[in-house]
Amino acid sequence: MNRDQIRARLRELQAMDVPRHGGSTFAYVYDSGRPDIDALGLEALAMFGESNGLDPTAFPSLLAMERDLVAMAASFTQAPDGRAGTVTSGGTESILLAVQTARDAHPEIERPTMVLPATAHAAFHKAAHYFGVRPVVVPVRADFRADPEAMAAAIDESTVLVVGSAPSYAHGVVDPIDELASAAMHKDVRMHVDACIGGWVLPFLDDAPAWDFSVPGVTSISVDLHKYAYTPKGVSVLLHRDRELRRPQFFACADWPGYTMLNSTTQSTRSGGPTAAAWAVTRAYGRDGYADLARSAREAARRFITGLPAPLEVLGGPDSTLVAVHSNDPEVDMLVVADQMQQRGQYVQVQLPYAGGPANMHLSMSAASLAIIDDVVAALVESVDAARESGPATVAPELAEAARALDPATLTDADFDGLLQIAGLAGDSGDLALPQQMAPVNALLAVASPALRERLLIAFLDRLS
Ligand SMILES: *Cc1c(COP(=O)(O)O)cnc(C)c1O
Repeated sequence: MNRDQIRARLRELQAMDVPRHGGSTFAYVYDSGRPDIDALGLEALAMFGESNGLDPTAFPSLLAMERDLVAMAASFTQAPDGRAGTVTSGGTESILLAVQTARDAHPEIERPTMVLPATAHAAFHKAAHYFGVRPVVVPVRADFRADPEAMAAAIDESTVLVVGSAPSYAHGVVDPIDELASAAMHKDVRMHVDACIGGWVLPFLDDAPAWDFSVPGVTSISVDLHKYAYTPKGVSVLLHRDRELRRPQFFACADWPGYTMLNSTTQSTRSGGPTAAAWAVTRAYGRDGYADLARSAREAARRFITGLPAPLEVLGGPDSTLVAVHSNDPEVDMLVVADQMQQRGQYVQVQLPYAGGPANMHLSMSAASLAIIDDVVAALVESVDAARESGPATVAPELAEAARALDPATLTDADFDGLLQIAGLAGDSGDLALPQQMAPVNALLAVASPALRERLLIAFLDRLS
C-alpha cells in the first residue's frame, strides 16, 4: 500500500468506532471539548512514542515527567510528605499492583484475602485471579455504598487489603472511606481507595465526601489520567502513603544472563508516549483548568438527572460525574432504551441486572457533554417512547431453556455454537454475525447467571478475535 492508501484505510477503520469527541460517548472516552490541548497531547505522544520507560537511566526524560505527574496526583489527593507514586498504563494495572504489593508485604500469610464491597471494580477480581488473593465480597447498602460495619466484620488475620471506591464505576457513589479506613487501620491492614475515575474530579467538587489521603488509614490510591485528566490512553498513577508501603511493588531480576531487569510496574518495555502526553496535557490545564472541567462534567450529570423522563430513575444518588439510570416500568425496557439511544447517536453503556438490582444504563459525563446535554435528554425522551412502543426485549423460551441448561463449568464450543444458532447469531460459516440491536443479546445474558455470562462472553471473544 502507498502512504495515501494507508492513511485512507486508517480513516476508514476509525470511522467504524464510536465517536471520540463531541461528548455523546458516555463510556470509554472522555472529551474535554478542547481540541487545541488534545492536539498538544497527541504531539507529545508521537514525540515520545519510541522512548522506552524500561530504564530511567537511559531515558531520564520519562523519569522527570513521571515525577511531575506523581506530584500533581499527590497534590490532588492531599498526599503527605513522604508519599511515593508510580505511573502505570491504566486503572487495571494500578489496581493489580496495589493488590500484588499488599499481598507481598505479608509473605507470612499463606492464604491472603482482600475485603471488597460488592461494587468494587472488576479489576480487583482480575487481581484476585492473577495473584491468588481471595476476594471476600461484602454486600453494599441499599444506596450502593459500602457497608462499613459488615466490611469491618469481614476483616480477619488473612486480610491484606481493604478496598473502597471514590466513586464506584457502576453507580458513581463514593463509599464511606473514613469508616472503612478507620476499620482497616485498627486492624493494621492496608486500605486502597479506587479513585481511578474520581481522582481528577472529586478534588474540585465542594460537596465531595472525604475520600483521599487526608483520611487516616488510607494507604494507597489509584487515579487514572486517561479518564478525567483528559489525556490519551495509557496513563494512571498509583500512590502510596509512604515509600515503605510501596517497596514490595518493585521487581528486580539479576538471575539470568541478560541486562539487570528492574521494574516498578508489570510492564518492562513501555512506551514513553502516554507519559509525555499526560505531562503535556496536565501542564496545559493546570489545577484551575481541571476545576472548570470537573464542574462542567458534574453540571452535565445534574442536568441529565433533572431532565430524566418518567419512568426512568437514577440509581444510588451519584456523588460525581457518573450516572446509572433504570426504569420503573416493565413496559419500558432499559436494554431497548439503550439501543434507541445509540440509534440517536448517544452511546450509553448497558449494565446487566446483578445481585437483585435492575438492568440499567450507565453514563460517564465528559466536560464536553454539558454543551449537548439538552439534546441528550431529548434523545432519551424519544428513546423511552420508542421503547414503550416496541415493548421489552424478550428471550425466546427455547433459547432461555437452552441457556439455562448450560453448565458454566463444562460449556463446550459445540454448546456455544448451538446457542448462537438458536439465537440467530450464527453467520454463514458458523462464525459470529453481530446484530444491529444489542437488546436481544443483552436480554439473553440477563437471564444467565454471572458465571454463565462469563463463560459466554469468553466464548464470544474467542470467536471475535
Ligand atoms: C476505569 C476504572 C478502572 C479500570 O481502569 P482501566 O483504565 O480501564 O484499566 C478501575 N476502577 C474504576 C473505578 C474505574 O472507573
